[in-house]
Amino acid sequence: MATQVTKRKFDVVIVGAGGSGMRASLQLARAGLNVAVLSKVFPTRSHTVAAQGGIGASLGNMNEDNWHYHFYDTVKGGDWLSDQDAVEFMCREAPKVVYDLEHMGMPFDRNPDGTIYQRPFGGHTANYGEKAVERACAAADRTGHAMLHTLYQQNVAAKTSFFVEWMALDLIRDAEGDVVGVTAMEMETGDVHILQAKTTLLATGGAGRIFAASTNAFINTGDGLGMAARAGLPLQDMEFWQFHPTGVHGAGVLLTEGCRGEGAILLNSNGERFMERYAPTLKDLAPRDFVSRCMDQEIKEGRGCGPNKDHVLLKLDHLGAETIMKRLPSVFEIGHNFANVDITREPIPVVPTIHYQMGGIPTNINGQVVTKKDDVTNTVVNGLYAVGECSCVSVHGANRLGTNSLLDLLVFGRAAGNHIVEFNNKNKEHKDLPKDAADLSLARLARLDSSTSGEYAQDVANDIRASMQLHAGVFRTQKSMDEGVVKIAELRERVKSIGLKDKSKVFNTARIEALEVDNLIEAAQATIVSAAARHESRGAHTVDDYADSAEFPNGRNDKEWHKHTLWHSADNSLSYKSVQMKPLTVDSVPLKVRTF
Ligand SMILES: Cc1cc2nc3c(=O)[nH]c(=O)nc-3n(C[C@H](O)[C@H](O)[C@H](O)COP(=O)(O)OP(=O)(O)OC[C@H]3O[C@@H](n4cnc5c(N)ncnc54)[C@H](O)[C@@H]3O)c2cc1C
Repeated sequence: MATQVTKRKFDVVIVGAGGSGMRASLQLARAGLNVAVLSKVFPTRSHTVAAQGGIGASLGNMNEDNWHYHFYDTVKGGDWLSDQDAVEFMCREAPKVVYDLEHMGMPFDRNPDGTIYQRPFGGHTANYGEKAVERACAAADRTGHAMLHTLYQQNVAAKTSFFVEWMALDLIRDAEGDVVGVTAMEMETGDVHILQAKTTLLATGGAGRIFAASTNAFINTGDGLGMAARAGLPLQDMEFWQFHPTGVHGAGVLLTEGCRGEGAILLNSNGERFMERYAPTLKDLAPRDFVSRCMDQEIKEGRGCGPNKDHVLLKLDHLGAETIMKRLPSVFEIGHNFANVDITREPIPVVPTIHYQMGGIPTNINGQVVTKKDDVTNTVVNGLYAVGECSCVSVHGANRLGTNSLLDLLVFGRAAGNHIVEFNNKNKEHKDLPKDAADLSLARLARLDSSTSGEYAQDVANDIRASMQLHAGVFRTQKSMDEGVVKIAELRERVKSIGLKDKSKVFNTARIEALEVDNLIEAAQATIVSAAARHESRGAHTVDDYADSAEFPNGRNDKEWHKHTLWHSADNSLSYKSVQMKPLTVDSVPLKVRTF
């Protein structure tokens, strides 16, 4: 157990070295600020490295495209829950941030004329839904890998300080509610440190590990969400979790949508390309929530494949071995390693798998964390920013379009970086640290060491994951979600008494795992409580009880539910705020029924 608390001072502390954290840190280090980036793992092992398919930007390198189409697709893909000012900002900035990466040396695939190669992706269309368009800028099926390494190298050159294998524990807020830094544990020594900063940026990625079957890395435990929740800040739209249609059956590992972008198709047990029936225009490239639902429908109606009729097939062999090895080499390896299938010869079994969190810590388009005061006013939390998957700005609404996340990291990472530089220029002095700066974190650690309950972190974590999978999975019912609310509340009590096994030889990694459960439970409870309260189907939140009807097409009830959810940890309560329908310069995309 740590006894020593040392203090260090920086201009900016960034928690997270994924794409969003490193895009922001680059902006700051280049401006000469003293910036510390903390990461639980080596920066290039952050989950961004696993992104396969691409970065969305309307470069128009293959066919005519422009940001207006991208804007429309994003709002429609998000089932009209996105804030349209943020969406406009992102889609307009997209080409700029992709060219920035190109100039940094990112090894994009190329067309014969030297321009960046772009592939089609789910929900990407030209002329407002008329036909599919190639918008995903790709480096084979290793786009995130190429991007993260590029950003890391640039940060090293710009002299960003990395604190590798450091786990941020809690935000430090002063009496005025301003954020003045974080506490963190150095994993090697177990020492707790106070990192004081004029601004703190959370870039901790998603919380996909609150579910049992997920495409996410094991480190994606929602630490930033937990830190925000414990500091009294709300979490927004947490009921919306994206299921990726093509997780390897039985393993959950992702097969990029780039497969279907390159021409792969989904088949049922009759060998039928069923997406043609559900989405005549976009077929297999309809948005993810829609495709996942269609797959489930096929399985429910008895056309699933395999002995248990519990999956469908993704067929790639008609693309030819040459295209597969050039454009989808990692998918080939995944097929071999996780399904024992040679995808150049036979189809691979797939099921929808948890993939991406649309909700998160609410921010404005500068990345500043906001809390709601009333229905129209957002109040900024001084000194605190959030970007990337842990944040909710909200561009993805109720369902994210493929490739818009990597884009979100770049656009808002850069924007937050620029805004922080301004903030730091205006605020020359650090604010004082409160006396009790480290108390909360030290108490959390002391609790682990003193508990004699026999309640262990991994048992509780596994129960959280199983409950979330069962009660807030791809297909939800009101009854099951209501039961989930009760179960997660019980699990929250168990979390409070977690202790360490065999205290005489505890490693710090065991402490880290136990501390992560404090974060898992916040993300899980935010999700299940927000989900059970939303009495409609919208985007990724599909509830059997709220099915398609004449009054509520697709089960969506705009009159009552066209609003953002805010979950408050302190009293496990909810409040709501309006969706920003007004873009920055163009006309809004008015509410419409979503068909493809
Ligand atoms: C398999 C897969 C494929 C994907 N493919 C695509 C794609 O093709 N296109 C697309 O747009 N999106 C894709 N996505 C989504 C996208 O990759 C992620 O949303 C995005 O990379 C998240 O980036 P991030 O910077 O927010 O966080 P991450 O990359 O997850 O990084 C989080 C960072 O926070 C650090 N961290 C977390 N907690 C702490 C703590 N307590 N203390 C210190 N450090 C901490 C971690 O160490 C890590 O450095 C994919 C996602 C997955 C899982």
